[in-house]
Formats: sequence, C-alpha cells, structure tokens
Amino acid sequence: MKILLASAEAVPFAKVGGLADVVPLIARSVTGLGHEVHVVLPLYASIDRTNLTHCDQPMIVNMGYGIEFCRLWKTTNLGVEFLFIEFDRYFGRAGIYGENGEGYRDNWERFSFFSRAAIDLCDFTNWIPDVIHSHDWHTGLIPVMLREQRVYRLSKSASVFTIHNMAHHGYSPRGLLNFVGLPEKLFHPFALEAFGAINIMKGAILYADKITAVSQTYADEIKTTEHGCGLNDPLMYRAADLIGICNAVDSDIWSPKNDPLIPAKFSHNNLAGKGKCKLALQEKVGLNVDENILLIGVISRLVEQKGLDMVCDILPELLDNLHIQFVLLGAGDSVLEDRFRFYTNNYGGRVAVKIGYDNSLSHMIEASADCFLMPSRYEPCGMNQMYSMLYGTLPIVHATGGLRDTVENYDEQSHIGSGFVFHQLDHRSLYNTVCWACATYYDRKQDFVAMQKYAMQKDFSMNKMANAYLKVYEYSLKAHERSR
Ligand code: ADP
Repeated sequence: MKILLASAEAVPFAKVGGLADVVPLIARSVTGLGHEVHVVLPLYASIDRTNLTHCDQPMIVNMGYGIEFCRLWKTTNLGVEFLFIEFDRYFGRAGIYGENGEGYRDNWERFSFFSRAAIDLCDFTNWIPDVIHSHDWHTGLIPVMLREQRVYRLSKSASVFTIHNMAHHGYSPRGLLNFVGLPEKLFHPFALEAFGAINIMKGAILYADKITAVSQTYADEIKTTEHGCGLNDPLMYRAADLIGICNAVDSDIWSPKNDPLIPAKFSHNNLAGKGKCKLALQEKVGLNVDENILLIGVISRLVEQKGLDMVCDILPELLDNLHIQFVLLGAGDSVLEDRFRFYTNNYGGRVAVKIGYDNSLSHMIEASADCFLMPSRYEPCGMNQMYSMLYGTLPIVHATGGLRDTVENYDEQSHIGSGFVFHQLDHRSLYNTVCWACATYYDRKQDFVAMQKYAMQKDFSMNKMANAYLKVYEYSLKAHERSR
C-alpha cells in the first residue's frame, strides 16, 4: 500500500508538541510492515536544508483564485521519504504557527495552501497514494478536497484523519472556500459552516473516510459535550468510523538503556544509573545534591490544558509539608512562567525552573526524576507519561484520555501499578495524590521500586500502533470504494 502522511509537524524537522513525535513514528512503523510511506511538511525557515535536495521544476498548486508555484524539496530520514513544500510567503517565517505567543493571523491561508499542495504533489511526483492520512486541522481540508474537488488521479485514494487535539479547529473566514476553490454549498451547517465561519476540523470529521483519535478514552470523550469542543455532534454522527489508537514511543530515542543524552544508562534489571542521573541533574539545575530525596519532574507546554496552574497553586503547601524537590522545564503562558520562577527564589535548592525548550534537559529530567507530574485537564494521548514510565519515573496523572489508558494506578493490596492516578480534577485530589506518591517513596520503598521496574517494561511499541493504523487504512479503502 502507498500512504501519504500530511502534517504540520514531524521530528527531526519541526516540533511544537507530541504531533511531531507521532507522525514520523507512524511512517516508520508502517514502512516496517512493508508499505511505502511518504511524509509531507511545509518547509519552514527553521528547517536546515543542508541534507535536502530540491526538484528543479517548479510545482503548480491549484488554488481557487488561480495557480501558484512552489518548490518541492526531499530527503530520506530513517528509511522514510520526507517531502517539503517551499513557499516563503507562508512558511519563510521564524515560527511554525506564530511568534511571541501570537498565532499568525493567516494560519488558515497558510495551511489550506499546504493542504492543496499536498494533493497536487501526488500528480507532480507521479506517486499516487492509496491513502492520504492527514493530522489535525492544519491538514483537515484534504479529506474535503479529495471528495469535493474530484481530483482525477486521486479518485481511488481514501482519506484518514487523525485527531491529536480537539481544541484547535482552524476557524477561517467564509472566503476560504473561494481561496481554495471549494464550492459555496459547503457553507452549510451539515458541511463546513459553524457559527458563521468555516470550521476545518468539522469538515475533516464529516468528510474523511475514517477518523482516528490518539487514544481509546479520548475517542470516547470527544463524543461528549464536555470534551467535544462543540464538535461532539458531528463525531457522534461519525461514531461508527471513529477509532482510538494509542500513540507509541520511539524506543530508538527514548530508552534509558542507550540514551546518549543521559549521563548513566540503566534498565529495569539495574537501576543504579538512575541514581547517578539524579545527582548529575541536581548539580546541573542547582538543586541540593541528594540521591535520597523524592524528585518530582514536569516537562510541558505551559497552557491551560496541562493543569499546571493547579500545581502552581499548591506548590508552597507541598514544599512546606513534604520532603521533596521539584524540577520544571516548560514554556508558554507568561503568567505561569513568572509564577513558577518565583518559587525558585523562595525555595532555593529545592525548586528548579527552566523556562524554554530544551530537548537534552527533557531527557535528563525523565531519567532523573522519581515521579512525573501530569495533571492535565484533558490529554488526547500524552507522550511524557509514557517516556516517564520507560525511564522508571512514576507518573502522577489525572484520569483522562491517554493518561487513563496508559497509566495503571497503584494498588496497595497487590503492591503493583505503574503510577498514581486521581479521578476528581481539583486541588485537593492533586495534593493528596502527590502525598500518596511521596508516602510510597519513603514508607513503601519496595513497592515503589517494584512499580518502577514494572513501568519500565510496559509495551508502547511501534508495531502495535502500526498494525492498528494499517487496519484503518484497509477499512478506509473499503469505505471509499463504497462511497464512490
Ligand atoms: P503536547 O503534544 O500536548 O504538548 P505530549 O505529552 O503529547 O503533549 O508531547 C509533548 C512533547 O513535547 C514531548 O515529547 C515532550 O518531551 C516535549 N516537550 C514539551 N515541552 C518541552 C520543553 N519545554 N522542552 C523540551 N521538550 C518539551
């Protein structure tokens, strides 16, 4: 089978969040099962072109107002072909989605152009995919275009749309339809219209042959008013075509046995290296050097979704009452950044806060901390709780989305679990659960270590995920055939 993945992010080229980790993983794992997979991305200014080659011929992009010319670049990474759309008017900028905390105002133009370019490149390269798999609203117009624009050579290509995060819909002005050449009839509540504008995510949900969400619980949650972000009705309408597939972890990048970014390697058979990592991290970030104190880590975008405002609220109480250290790496909301920074001054040696994006430090924290805090209000899948478990760092999580599906709550009777889970989203539950983890660390050390070893052996392998996507691709082809 030939599959084209269209995404706004993919490591190692462009990353803002978990979407970037998952897309190339799907590509590699499905390639590993013997299929041909290409990934297409915008060529952002930040992407290093040293190892990329470009086609001499310009590529035509068929927009509603006429044609544009862009340039196609290519490279191969870990056995997967990556294609890049160069069009500097939209992508030759410093940011991916925006700058200085502000999204670009023309993101709807940028990504609808990219979506059309992803379709036109199939003709240009003479590589006709069986399935085009698009991700989140940025590429959500692809299923709509495939159906409504009747692109001749792609008439047999099925579409799969994956929801990584329901919160962003790609609201666009009505003029989007003319801009990309979609018929005006789509400005309709049973198509793309919502609240007098165009909702790209809604279009993708209604038009894709199959839809997936990045965990089973999230697939269930988004059909409800509470988590559906206003699109629960279209999702209920498509419920039979909505499938939950949990993300996998790239064990070439995230394994304490051979991670080049950590100072000592370790495994579930021998945790000694984890202690060495802890001492090195404490030294590096200015915490008191002490292997025996409970170290709690956070790595996150600082946005409302992640619930870290609640951590900020209870941090003084936690630090005053418990023998713990706290290390945070993150960036986002400036008020939250300042609030966390403030504690570094007041609790010197026990709190370390690094504002910014730092891949090496994120590996160090995963390897060094004893617990990882992730009290997300909602979490489609979440990657960090899985990385944490594989590094023997027990996650403390709210039971939502992928956190619920991947973290097994500690059971004091059977002495096992892979983390600490709370169900009620409030300050008290969060506080009590951190206390519970702390008590387990100090008073039931044997259980804590058994949990670490158990968590480190969890299976988040790519193969499981690849087989699930492959099934969806097959279903989508059948569904597409029926609808033609
Ligand atoms: P989301 O996609 O909602 O941000 P995930 O847990 O799915 O959350 O994925 C987040 C990814 O981004 C992880 O790979 C995490 O390690 C990484 N990450 C987030 N913030 C930072 C940061 N400040 N520095 C380094 N890596 C980060």
